[in-house]
Amino acid sequence: MGEESSPCVNSTCCTTIGSSVIPTINRLQDILTPVSGELSKISLPQVAVVGSQSSGKSSVLEALVGRDFLPRGCDICTRRPLALMLENRPRKPDDDGKEWAEFRHLPGKRFYDFTKVRREILAETDREAGRNKGVSENQIGLKISSPNVLNMTLIDLPGITKVPVGDQPTDIETRIRKMIMDYIRQENCIILAVSPANSDLATSDALQMARDVDPTGTRTIGVITKLDIMDRGTNGCNFLLGKVVPLRLGYVGVVNRCQEDINKNRSIRDALAYEEQFFCDHPEYNGLSDRCGIPQLAKKLNQILEQHVRIVLPSLKAELNSRLTAVAKELQKYGQVVESKAEQEAILLSILARYCEAFSTMVDGKSQEMSTKELSGGARIHYIFQSIFVKTLEEVDPCQDLSDEDIWMAIQNATGLRNALFVPEVPFEVLVRKQIALLLDPCLQCLRFVYDELIKMSRACEVTEFQRFPILRRRLDDVMGKFLRDGVRPAGENDRKSY
Ligand code: GDP
Ligand code: MG
Repeated sequence: MGEESSPCVNSTCCTTIGSSVIPTINRLQDILTPVSGELSKISLPQVAVVGSQSSGKSSVLEALVGRDFLPRGCDICTRRPLALMLENRPRKPDDDGKEWAEFRHLPGKRFYDFTKVRREILAETDREAGRNKGVSENQIGLKISSPNVLNMTLIDLPGITKVPVGDQPTDIETRIRKMIMDYIRQENCIILAVSPANSDLATSDALQMARDVDPTGTRTIGVITKLDIMDRGTNGCNFLLGKVVPLRLGYVGVVNRCQEDINKNRSIRDALAYEEQFFCDHPEYNGLSDRCGIPQLAKKLNQILEQHVRIVLPSLKAELNSRLTAVAKELQKYGQVVESKAEQEAILLSILARYCEAFSTMVDGKSQEMSTKELSGGARIHYIFQSIFVKTLEEVDPCQDLSDEDIWMAIQNATGLRNALFVPEVPFEVLVRKQIALLLDPCLQCLRFVYDELIKMSRACEVTEFQRFPILRRRLDDVMGKFLRDGVRPAGENDRKSY
């Protein structure tokens, strides 16, 4: 980038947009960032330039940003909306502070030379809108990353034209108006209504459109360009004083670079010096110094931005306070810092005791947080035994697969040569053992249900300190799991499944 890339293009260091607000916002962000990532992003309003073709919109925007990169000229140059996202890059020790530009359609490619940026804007415009004056509402996204800018978005828009030329469709005026409206309709958009001083302000398209979307004039600033090429014998004082079209936030008159300056690559710094000289040389503007020059326009915008920050501050503060309360509450939960081993042991014991207590409370049904939706704890175990288990036991048929013939056969086999008078013991045992095996599955099901419930209870046991000692919580879960599994094992020993 050339020397004009410096954001401080004159001695007052306030010519570029946001320059006076940057220190405040940076300080705010320094305060907010450690508390919250998202909060620290203070969203600022967008700024869009509106006006008829060749009124000087791109020139104004460029001077405000303090960098040379937009295509300008007497023909239709801006043929697609350009969203210029300024991104503040916090300065890090290893950062050389260089600024770069990156296009949305070329992610990852950094442009350090802003002449190339302009070339790419032109090429990308041609790609989408053709080479013959075509217009497209498809936005070009351009990001400038720098430690010297505010996080905000500026929009350069095509100018309003009336007569279609080149490849432009017959309804070009309606299309462009709609395109502009889509941007300036948004409530957070500051409108720079640009009108050239060498035509009548009463016929200004920019002011008319701005009034449509901002009837109270709370977000419209009038910008009068080309004060240097007015008809001899006239001046822009009446415009600037709001005598022709009154405007709540008023007007600022500027002198941008003329076509010859552009052709000769005159820098922004020189252009600003020329502008300053112009207003000095024209005594009619002497009394209006607060309404003349790019630095004044930047100042006005900065005041609006400051006002915006002032408006968002209370809500930021409220948000901060509520977070502070939440964090303090969380901190309280963690309890006192304990250093000595004895104290640590005492705490551990108390946690374990409370855990056991919480477990017994659940078993006894004395818990404070009793569910009304489902059975839990001791009640559920009671239900498993009393309802599920008993019911499945009752469903078992004791004589399943056992016919009278089987019994007779067993008795006969047990008596051998003798006649049977009583039912002998051995066949009884053989037969009963077979039938008792039928009870195995209901018993194992009951075991599984009780085990599951106990595990659930152990996980549900909450002691406030667990938030402070998450590893202890996990260890306790492990130990409880093992303890319960150890209890299950002998009970399920006959089982083929393993618990
Ligand atoms: P846009 O179409 O509204 O974006 O206008 P540009 O910024 O492209 O400017 C259109 C033409 O007007 C260019 O040739 C500029 O050099 C010229 N121009 C813009 N502002 C001024 C100004 O204040 N004084 C003079 N003499 N020429 C200007
Ligand atoms: Mg333009």
